[in-house]
Amino acid sequence: MEPKLIFDQRLKCPICGMDTLLAKDYLYDAGEVGEMVLSNWECENCHYRYRDVKPYEHSHPKRLELSVENEEDLNIIVYRSPFGNLIIPELSIEVISKDVSQGSFTTVEGILDEILENLGSLCDNGRCQDIKNAKDGKKKFTLIIEDTSGTSFIKSKKQKLLNFYLFPLNCSLLLKDYF
Ligand SMILES: [Zn+2]
Repeated sequence: MEPKLIFDQRLKCPICGMDTLLAKDYLYDAGEVGEMVLSNWECENCHYRYRDVKPYEHSHPKRLELSVENEEDLNIIVYRSPFGNLIIPELSIEVISKDVSQGSFTTVEGILDEILENLGSLCDNGRCQDIKNAKDGKKKFTLIIEDTSGTSFIKSKKQKLLNFYLFPLNCSLLLKDYF
């Protein structure tokens, strides 16, 4: 089997901030090992590269958790796919994935920046201080991504990965029948 292009997007580069990161994933058959996904992402501008090979999982929903404890953790690189919901319980943040076509490839700090930017004037008069403290490494928090497509990732050994399973839509009906 020839490697097949399964993901092809132009993303914002986490290093130089330009929309010049060409992200391509290929699916190929590695014989006995099974199907593998080869990621080959490269920024045309600053030549930052992300390379990875992992087993192809048939889109299991995933929950990623990262505890952010210090300034160093703010530099960890995170990819949130268009299907990933972002949750930071300590900061009361929940960003639900909408029908966006692009994922977001950035750092933990970049995520907080985006949130502050989106909140805009809602942060006037000293509100959002918690988020600013988190961004300065003065507040610990947990970054959670729940992704039904299973393609989001956090580039850190510290992350916890949990598969989660969605209840079938008719679950509540079944419960009703039961009672
Ligand atoms: Zn770049």
